[in-house]
Amino acid sequence: MTATQGTATERTGAGSTTEWETVVGLEVHCELATATKLFCGCRNAFGDEPNTNVCPVCLGLPGSLPVLNRQAVELAMRLGEALGCTVRPSLFHRKNYFYPDMPKDYQISQYDQPINVDGFLELPDGSRVGIERAHLEEDTGKSTHVGGGGRIHEADHSLVDYNRSGVPLVEIVSRPDVRSGEQARAYVNELRAVLLATGASDARMEEGSMRVDANVSVRPAGSATLGTRCEVKNLNSTRSLGRAIEYEARRQIDLLTAGERVVQQTRHWDEADGRTHVLRSKEEAFDYRYFPEPDLVPLVPDDAWRESVRQSLPVLPAERRRRLATATGAVPGEVAVVVERGLDELVLAALDAGGEAQRLLVHAEHDLAGEPADALDPAALAALTRMEVAGQLTATQAKAVLAELVASGGDPAEIARAKGFEAMGDDALAAAVDEIIAANPDAWGRYQGGDAKVTGFFVGQVMKATRGRADGKAVTRLLRERAGA
Ligand code: ZN
Ligand code: MN
Repeated sequence: MTATQGTATERTGAGSTTEWETVVGLEVHCELATATKLFCGCRNAFGDEPNTNVCPVCLGLPGSLPVLNRQAVELAMRLGEALGCTVRPSLFHRKNYFYPDMPKDYQISQYDQPINVDGFLELPDGSRVGIERAHLEEDTGKSTHVGGGGRIHEADHSLVDYNRSGVPLVEIVSRPDVRSGEQARAYVNELRAVLLATGASDARMEEGSMRVDANVSVRPAGSATLGTRCEVKNLNSTRSLGRAIEYEARRQIDLLTAGERVVQQTRHWDEADGRTHVLRSKEEAFDYRYFPEPDLVPLVPDDAWRESVRQSLPVLPAERRRRLATATGAVPGEVAVVVERGLDELVLAALDAGGEAQRLLVHAEHDLAGEPADALDPAALAALTRMEVAGQLTATQAKAVLAELVASGGDPAEIARAKGFEAMGDDALAAAVDEIIAANPDAWGRYQGGDAKVTGFFVGQVMKATRGRADGKAVTRLLRERAGA
């Protein structure tokens, strides 16, 4: 099974084959970028001294009462609108379970009436993954197990930090529409782009502000029923996510092919050994004894609020890809990197200023990676691409001029002149080619004899003689002409 294919073929006993399809649903928890926590005024900040951002509410002390954070609701609504969800009246429930880092012994979450339902996420390849819901809930504190490699059963002792307790989360639950590890990675990357664009979260997987769990099952290709799923946790990077899904699907296919069955479980991804390990048998909703949170009223955003949220949304990545693709004659998948780098506005402005689409896309994707291109003048970039298509600059020279434009701005024609990049006249180029031919009679003989390998030698020699001013394509053409081919 490869990363891009969702199916694998297995030979079974009688020599018949079964195609297997991988089915993945993703649950992503994201910390919202609020100033304070979901139900109290404590600071929502990563990396502070442990247990300094705490109060009776987020420590779950008896008699304390939660007060809902308006900014958290607004950020959840922004995300919901961006995912094409229906934003609707919602209710908080208590989800009861014991965790040492959850002092109330229940988590305030949204259960059967979540704030956002029925949306979708469009990926760069044009596929769509359905979003079942994106609900609000509070985060738990954070346990650190000291000694024995960080796992609880080997630890000497454990520490708990309640700074994270009560930090607002959205949990985004996808429909089981994902078919491979590769597509799961694309989904998480796209979701991160939407979270950043809406300002809902900083979406840092490495700091735990974005956490991904994958529900993985397999089924015979063409089957409409879902197989038994396992939930894989501890996916700390998109790389882990892809690897864990491929491993888990393989494990399930092997079980089923051997005539065994898949048991519904929660499994832990171990990055070191590249396997999933059983953590516990999977809980069902009834294990949590959900009931409505009696200390909070139903959350009913009015039409005006929802409208103002809709109006304030930026243009989202999928739309930006479509817009840039239309303007440049590319397909959305081809311009994904340019949009990801935030260079689409620059390319569009340079197009308006008369730039050449293909050269602009090439520069944005390959020559402006990691460059502070914000200050780049679109008109100068456009002029540069016009010089290239007019044959006044080679691709290598254009790159050098672009680097100068990024560093200190200016006029590309003047920069080219200062660098001695004036286009070589046809006569000068022809003279240079003839000189090199005359100086290398043996190699020339081989070229005339049809040895294509020496073409590179001649182009290299001409480049050297002209200090890189020659256009490689023009040299190749001249060589062919001289050989009478
Ligand atoms: Zn607090
Ligand atoms: Mn959750």
